Amino acid sequence: MSEKIKMVEAPPGIEGQGFFATSLDNVVGLARKNSIWPLPFATSCCGIEFMATMASHYDLARFGSERLSFTPRQADLLMVMGTIAKKMGPILRQVYEQMAEPKWVIAVGACASSGGIFDTYSVLQGIDRIIPVDVYVPGCPPRPEQIIDGVMRIQDLIGKESVRRRNSEEYLKLKEEYLIK
Ligand code: SF4
Repeated sequence: MSEKIKMVEAPPGIEGQGFFATSLDNVVGLARKNSIWPLPFATSCCGIEFMATMASHYDLARFGSERLSFTPRQADLLMVMGTIAKKMGPILRQVYEQMAEPKWVIAVGACASSGGIFDTYSVLQGIDRIIPVDVYVPGCPPRPEQIIDGVMRIQDLIGKESVRRRNSEEYLKLKEEYLIK
């Protein structure tokens, strides 16, 4: 095998001749974090940076995320990039609700995170006013390296998440706070 090909490391576990034992959480986390299917919800300039992130130079496929999904039901990472007008809020929320669990959200750039420079009546001052956000990527626009860093932070979260978290009281309470079904 070429030395340039890097394999993911095995999760912590107990190894012996002919066997390897680890926890289910570790195995599921390893599989999930290396096969994220993103849904790019791009409305403006930050979306162009995302296009560069997907292209050959930065190549998000290296992280197992080359399969973009434009249907919410076949995606597990919602990437919101760009200015979100208040009129668009219900649509974004509907897209989020249509995604199956487990799902994660990145707010890419200042606009998605806080409204950015558009401190005005028509712009949502951060998508976390309507849906829960896991990772915020700063910048106006963020460089592709920053977007990749955001995806890697999501990978860290996914790798450590218990398979039971989505049924936990804490998570159900979070959904309740956002009035999400
Ligand atoms: S954060 Fe800056 S670059 Fe990104 S959508 Fe807003 S204005 Fe455009």
